[in-house]
Amino acid sequence: MSPEIENLIALERTEQEIQRLRQEIAELPKRVAGIEQTLAGTRAALEGARTGLKADEAGRRKHETAIVDLRQKISKYRDQSLEVKTNEQYRALLHEIQFTERQIADFEDRVLELMVSADGREKEIKVAEADLKLQTAEVEKEKAAARERTAQDERELVEWNARRETGRSAIDADLLRHYDRVRKFRGSGLAEVRDRKCTGCSVVLRPQIENDVRSGKLAYCDSCQRILYFDPSKEIPAEPAPEKPSRRRPRPKLDASQAWYYREEYGQEGEVFVSFANVDGMASRRIYDAATGRKLGDTLVREGGYRQAFPEDLTNAIRLNGSWSDSEQDEWEGELPSTVLDVLHRDLDLARAEMAVRERQEQAAPSTVAS
Ligand SMILES: [Zn+2]
Repeated sequence: MSPEIENLIALERTEQEIQRLRQEIAELPKRVAGIEQTLAGTRAALEGARTGLKADEAGRRKHETAIVDLRQKISKYRDQSLEVKTNEQYRALLHEIQFTERQIADFEDRVLELMVSADGREKEIKVAEADLKLQTAEVEKEKAAARERTAQDERELVEWNARRETGRSAIDADLLRHYDRVRKFRGSGLAEVRDRKCTGCSVVLRPQIENDVRSGKLAYCDSCQRILYFDPSKEIPAEPAPEKPSRRRPRPKLDASQAWYYREEYGQEGEVFVSFANVDGMASRRIYDAATGRKLGDTLVREGGYRQAFPEDLTNAIRLNGSWSDSEQDEWEGELPSTVLDVLHRDLDLARAEMAVRERQEQAAPSTVAS
């Protein structure tokens, strides 16, 4: 790798770290504000419950006073009833007394309701007070942590900014301008080449550009303009080409937890590679187009080992070598990497050659071939 590229990689890391620190510094007050908002909500709930309790108590007192007044009214009616002259007057007073007693009963019901309501509010107040105490302590703790984190971040930022200035001064001005411009619009100015693709925009590179990058020349991605670099240590080592027909093909293990198959016909899809993985008592199945490597449909998961779970997929299938873990396959994002596709095709060719040899042997001397 050229020193220029190494400087750019170092600069890119520095820029990313500076960005991360700035984001963190900006996020911290938001987090504290979030907790403070919860705190304000609890405070409002507490205030609401307290106001409600006061209103209940005031209402209760009002009704109790009304009940006392109504009782006095009844005793006045009783006194009057002793002095009445006619039955009619007596009945009228009796009617008044009954009416007033009904009023008292209504007020008593309301007093009872208010007492029940006040009990509920008292409980609410207790809960809110406890919450408030906890949240207040938490917000204080968070604030202190945020202050500490921010101070630490700012110290680190000063260091990284100095590192950035030194880094920039070591890079050619034109290259730096290009880098800055792309970084401004795309968030990064540099991209690694892996698997013939620009990892910045996932576009497959022209062979000429790929060769330039591999040989350490300075090159830009045609599609996203990022400066490209190549790290040979990260390349997936290609399997040695099976030149010699005498080289024996490794036999896929029958009890492997990960297995690959080839099928000439798969419903409407034609030639496909099928991958199975047994994980924690479950079997997952993925299907890839054998020509393009594109994943067909979603990953299917069933209970049990894949042999029991997907028997219909194993008929007329050729078993291949290959073990890429479940999580690795998730990272491929819907397409087999070209190196994987190559390995599978090479193994398929070998498997077919092997089958042809076996058929010829069987035709020549069927009795000597064990089934
Ligand atoms: Zn690109």
